[in-house]
Amino acid sequence: MIDRDALTFELNDLLQVQQFQDYCPNGLQVAGRPKIKRLVTGVTASLALIEAAIQANADAILVHHGYFWKNEDPCIVGIKHQRIAKLIQSDVNLYAYHLPLDAHPKYGNNVQLAKKLGIDLDKPLAAEPLVWTGTLSEPLSGKVLANYLLQVLAHEPIHIEGCKRLIRKVAWCSGGAQNYITAAANAGVDAYISGEISESTTHIARELGIDYFAAGHHATERYGVQAVGEYLAKHFGLEHQFINIPNPA
Ligand SMILES: [Zn+2]
Repeated sequence: MIDRDALTFELNDLLQVQQFQDYCPNGLQVAGRPKIKRLVTGVTASLALIEAAIQANADAILVHHGYFWKNEDPCIVGIKHQRIAKLIQSDVNLYAYHLPLDAHPKYGNNVQLAKKLGIDLDKPLAAEPLVWTGTLSEPLSGKVLANYLLQVLAHEPIHIEGCKRLIRKVAWCSGGAQNYITAAANAGVDAYISGEISESTTHIARELGIDYFAAGHHATERYGVQAVGEYLAKHFGLEHQFINIPNPA
């Protein structure tokens, strides 16, 4: 059991929220009951996740994609009202961490994704610190790597063949980070892995001579919240459960 305010402090401190200029507020986005014992983690604070968390008697929900994004209508109407009303009626806290959760050097989405894929970490790119570089334990063809991503992430990637050699050095950034492909290619890697793909990414990959894998926005962003949830369970005696709301995107 932990006080809500203490948990807010611990999470903001762990994830170093003050270091980031983000597109949304990071931290406690919707306040609920003051004591927290059961924590549910998930990728996105959708209505389906909120309902599943309430079913699981959660006191707090921790997500990567919360609310109040820059440039969106700030009014609490429509589906945003449905979601927030459900949280408030059930007195459940909502914590959301976006870039701080991508970037954390131990619990972040990018480092946790590398761990899941068995990639040896090298370092983040100096030009784009959210993009990491590393090395596969053995060189693989693009087709074999695509199949490996499918097996490990349970999500079929979109694979663009751009390099004619075996893939050994890779760069990656979870989520909708396809636009970092040029920065990745400039670092001399054989392949770049992210979550989403744009129409233009295909041509950019081919012309840069780099393989590109769109491995799923949701599929690549499931591991940071789980790692933070496990950390909180261990250090503060919380009961933690990750709830996967399947998403093909
Ligand atoms: Zn995302």
